[in-house]
Amino acid sequence: MAAEKIVPLIHAGAHVHLVSPEISVEMAPFLAEVWLYDRRTVRPADVIGAGVVVAATGDADVNRRLSETARTEGILVNVADDPEHCDYYSPAIIRRGPVMVTISTDGGSPLLAGQLRRLLEAALPRSLARVSDLLVRLRRRGLRGLQKRSDLLRALADPKITRFVDTGDTEAAADRLEQLYRRGEEPFDPGTVAIVGAGPGSRELLTLRALDRIQRADVILHDALVGREVLDLALPGTRIIDVGRRSRGVRPLKLGLSSSRRRSHVTAIRIDLMIREAKAGNRVTRLHGGDPFVFGCGGEEVDALAEAGIPVDMVPGVSSVLAAPAAAGIPLTRRGVARGFTVRVGRDTSGPTRGELTPEEETVVVLMGLASVHDVMEGLLAEGRSPDTPAVAVSCASRAEERIVVGTLGTLGERVRAAKLESPATLIVGRVAHRVVREGNADSKWPEHERHRVLHPTEAAG
Ligand code: SAH
Repeated sequence: MAAEKIVPLIHAGAHVHLVSPEISVEMAPFLAEVWLYDRRTVRPADVIGAGVVVAATGDADVNRRLSETARTEGILVNVADDPEHCDYYSPAIIRRGPVMVTISTDGGSPLLAGQLRRLLEAALPRSLARVSDLLVRLRRRGLRGLQKRSDLLRALADPKITRFVDTGDTEAAADRLEQLYRRGEEPFDPGTVAIVGAGPGSRELLTLRALDRIQRADVILHDALVGREVLDLALPGTRIIDVGRRSRGVRPLKLGLSSSRRRSHVTAIRIDLMIREAKAGNRVTRLHGGDPFVFGCGGEEVDALAEAGIPVDMVPGVSSVLAAPAAAGIPLTRRGVARGFTVRVGRDTSGPTRGELTPEEETVVVLMGLASVHDVMEGLLAEGRSPDTPAVAVSCASRAEERIVVGTLGTLGERVRAAKLESPATLIVGRVAHRVVREGNADSKWPEHERHRVLHPTEAAG
């Protein structure tokens, strides 16, 4: 306990007088840094002349006597695990260079503070120290105003900026930041709808980007598959609307509709609501269970929003396709046992059957297919697909190096080679890719890192 408390004092440049008959392994490393070490039992008189006293002897009576003496002398005192005899509490501290986050529970629960600290440690990027340096540079450039933007932390999520910052190129990071802010095209500006995957239900399977969209939303529209504990992450004041098929949010349901008509009716009502909220200048987050684009209506929503001129931000989620097998401890593929998997629905037929998809109906996602892309395309053609079938290769998805090459079954192999696309890459083949393909090489259309996350209305419509 004493060792824990000594660290911030030494950090702050205090002259530490340590009195202890023995030295724990935790304390040993700090021995060289204390100003004075007395190897003996502490006496109340030891506190006299100190600026601050920390009593952590492990003996409640001794601690109390130290505290009383300190108080009589008018010296601030902290007693480990004894809030009543404290004049101040030492918070749990997270440091990233000049950036410091402290967590206090008013001495009530150091355990809770410690756990919160671990949570926050994970969420705060290592690069924070350098980002802080970056902001100092920006201020020198006279970009004071930028720092007032509440969305400044978005810079931490920009893969380019993170990379520049990580490699110590703060100058380039500053350029990029300036460019992002001058243009005012952030992925989640007011008036934008974020179509977000909320994962299978546990908050721990949420992505940090999904969390960001949840916490910056003015209004959240969700369906029944979204977990309660995910919705609980929304900040106070966020409007949360259930737009599930059986909820009030989507009434009135016209009775007598067939189930598929009812489905599209509900989708239309949801889309209307999203458009209205976005046009009113709100940041709208539409939460889907799992991933929005795996047997969800994310695709229809994106199309309708783009047509209405609303900017859309797409955030993938952990699909139950992956989460359910993991929960059961089942690997989906395994060398020598299972060489691939397909995903089917049981609802629309008498039951999922093998081979009922025609090649046109099937989206094929190929992993580890970059080196053999020519053979992969040949194989898919041989199964009866047209050479015009859209085909896309995505390299380093979501990273700063992300690149996307578009083509068809007939052309992708050649284009991938010409573009010198690098591993790791995933191939996506099927009619679902037609819009991406028709719009040509996405590389040149959108500012690099947003190009697929943010479809701007003029580019995406149609
Ligand atoms: N977009 C969702 C799937 C929507 S279809 C996704 O990517 O996960 C709805 C089906 O998903 C459910 O009928 C069920 O089969 C499956 N599902 C959704 N959440 C699940 C969960 N937490 N555990 C197991 N299956 C789930």
